[in-house]
Amino acid sequence: MTALTDLDHPTKRKVVEWASAELDDPDLIQRDVDCQLWTDGWQRAADYGILGAWVDEAYGGRGHDVVTSLLMFEGLGYGCRDAGLVFAMTTQAWTMQPMLQRFGSDEQKQRYLPALVDGSKKAAFCITEAESGSDTFAMSTTFEPIGSTAAGESEADGFRINGTKSYITMAPAADVFMVFATKDPSLGQWGVTTFLVDADTPGLTVGPNRPKMGLRTTPFSDVTFDNVEVGADQVLGSVGSGAAIFSASMEIERAFVLAPQIGAMERQLDETVAYSRQRQQFGQPIGDFQAVAHRLAEMKLRHDNSRLQLYRAAALFALDQPSMEAAALAKIQSSEAAVASAMDALLTYGAKGYVTEFGVEQDLRNVAGGVVYGGTADVQRNIVARMLGRRS
Ligand SMILES: Cc1cc2nc3c(=O)[nH]c(=O)nc-3n(C[C@H](O)[C@H](O)[C@H](O)COP(=O)(O)OP(=O)(O)OC[C@H]3O[C@@H](n4cnc5c(N)ncnc54)[C@H](O)[C@@H]3O)c2cc1C
Repeated sequence: MTALTDLDHPTKRKVVEWASAELDDPDLIQRDVDCQLWTDGWQRAADYGILGAWVDEAYGGRGHDVVTSLLMFEGLGYGCRDAGLVFAMTTQAWTMQPMLQRFGSDEQKQRYLPALVDGSKKAAFCITEAESGSDTFAMSTTFEPIGSTAAGESEADGFRINGTKSYITMAPAADVFMVFATKDPSLGQWGVTTFLVDADTPGLTVGPNRPKMGLRTTPFSDVTFDNVEVGADQVLGSVGSGAAIFSASMEIERAFVLAPQIGAMERQLDETVAYSRQRQQFGQPIGDFQAVAHRLAEMKLRHDNSRLQLYRAAALFALDQPSMEAAALAKIQSSEAAVASAMDALLTYGAKGYVTEFGVEQDLRNVAGGVVYGGTADVQRNIVARMLGRRS
């Protein structure tokens, strides 16, 4: 029997082999410069079943369990060098789709999930605003009921949304947005409701792509809602349940969103080891210098620690055990480890690590965002400390 700790787990290995062959884009470096999403790659991955891995078969998915799905995303991260494409798919598959599956009505799930899974539609998750990042519920995007409101919000015909969301992954390419808005900013988390808003709804404007340090092949922009009207059937969950939906989404995102990055760390380690054996200086392979060899050992340690933390969080989640602390620890470990290891890889490659053509510098730029998105490393430490404080 193959253990999960086996780096060559057959589920993962199969995806590595497929992605290495099918998602190897010769134009990646130019697309990285141009900030272009690889739509052909997106469709290939959707056809293979990546986006549907963790979606019920009733809605077009593959119906895999959480661990099998993570193994697939880990393999994707190893086999596909386009970290922006992988990040875009991961965000949809591990943030937006699980919330739709868990909180959506059957009609909403039928309307959106099959199209998201088969690649014909793309989604974005909108909570952050220019003035409310970590302090999520200080949001100023508002909603108000429209139509026959005499019986209260839960009986309203629809809602009008106003405000602007910032730093939204995939916004320029999205067909549907999951949007968090408040009925009154003074209510904090108690005022928040989640809406599904189609991109062609009048009043919704997507800003221009915002170039960024890494993950440049993921389009990313602000989204403005100017008197955007949606029907009551576009509320996800119920009116007022936005904080619970956000909290559920963050628990999944912080635990699992870095799975592909852990696969990418393993690829980076394999390539750096190969380079340190092949590159000669002072008449010997650079890997024979203890300074270089210890760096490789540190990269291995960071990778394995990150992977173990990921699957510990997954096991707790799968067993329906509390996983908040494990998820926060996994996010801190793998996000910070990826930055340290990408820097070690760059140093080991020397100038080849710094120039664009070998792909090493992209790895460093791509992983830097991991300490910010899905809740910063500081915020994750707050969660761990809070959970520790609860123990007596
Ligand atoms: C690549 C990328 C993709 C993203 N995609 C999306 C997306 O799809 N949808 C979306 O809604 N948002 C998205 N975001 C936004 C992201 O969620 C926020 O950037 C993040 O929550 C941090 O908010 P902020 O940038 O406003 O930083 P701030 O909250 O302003 O934080 C600034 C600094 O203060 C620290 N800090 C803040 N509060 C505390 C605290 N309580 N304790 C300790 N330290 C604190 C932070 O750790 C950080 O160092 C994305 C961001 C990035 C980089």
